Amino acid sequence: MRVVLAQPRGFCAGVVRAIDIVERALEKYGEPVYVRHEIVHNRHVVETLKNKGARFVEELDEIPDGAVTVFSAHGVPQTVVQEAVHRGLPVLDATCPLVSKVHSQGKRYVGNGRMLILIGHAGHPEVEGTMGQVGAPVALVQSEKDVEALAIPRETPVAYVTQTTLSIDDTRTVIAALKRRFTDIVGPDITDICYATQNRQSAVRELCRVADVILVVGAKNSSNSNRLREIGIEEGVPSYLINDGSELRAEWVQGKEVVGLTAGASAPEELVRHVIEALGRIEDVEVEQMDGKKEHIEFRLPAELRA
Ligand code: SF4
Repeated sequence: MRVVLAQPRGFCAGVVRAIDIVERALEKYGEPVYVRHEIVHNRHVVETLKNKGARFVEELDEIPDGAVTVFSAHGVPQTVVQEAVHRGLPVLDATCPLVSKVHSQGKRYVGNGRMLILIGHAGHPEVEGTMGQVGAPVALVQSEKDVEALAIPRETPVAYVTQTTLSIDDTRTVIAALKRRFTDIVGPDITDICYATQNRQSAVRELCRVADVILVVGAKNSSNSNRLREIGIEEGVPSYLINDGSELRAEWVQGKEVVGLTAGASAPEELVRHVIEALGRIEDVEVEQMDGKKEHIEFRLPAELRA
């Protein structure tokens, strides 16, 4: 069996920064460090940080006074920021700078008197954060159907922003529907979909040209990992999302010549290796890596954690 690895795959710069923030906070301030929400959507990452002394909570009222607090990579609404300020919690903000950029864009549009429309998935923490950052009501749409159902007059000045981890193609369709629906609309095309999401989606499309089956390493609640699996399916290749090698089913890969393997932006490379080992227990494997884009993006840590 040939195993072809997508390039790029796995950790993006926002995830690396978020994990670094928790690790460096533990080194600098000692345990426990409290993290609001999973720092990134990956159980393995969360468990590893828990073992080092991080404590994960869903809301700030679970954090004792004075405890070092980290906001996850997905961002938080203003109400959470204000509550932290009100309680005097020492906060390290691990919101990905590309998510913060969307917050700023949204605020700018609202400041210019436009009604803001967010293209994204209801209930995702990034969407909740963005909606709660702009300081005005935000209309959320996920599909063309949602656009048709918007109860906003056609001539209203509107602007749109998008969640950073959406499918490029689906988002283009929704943007086109918004442009048909409103006469005065501005927005950033698909550029809010971050570089890491775009690169991983392009790579998995390439992988579909050679692979008989696609395995995506990632968590079920990881938006960008789900999109990678969906692209495989769209391309007509059976595709499965798995946390690690323990979830691999032999019948998915038996008799297949080429297994395409990729990983979502929050999945560590050691889980990719874990899947390769699991494949190796089914059949002999030859591993190769696709040619693909090299990523060199790094984000700076918060000032208090820089060496
Ligand atoms: S997937 Fe994109 S937006 Fe999300 S953390 Fe990574 S770089 Fe940032």
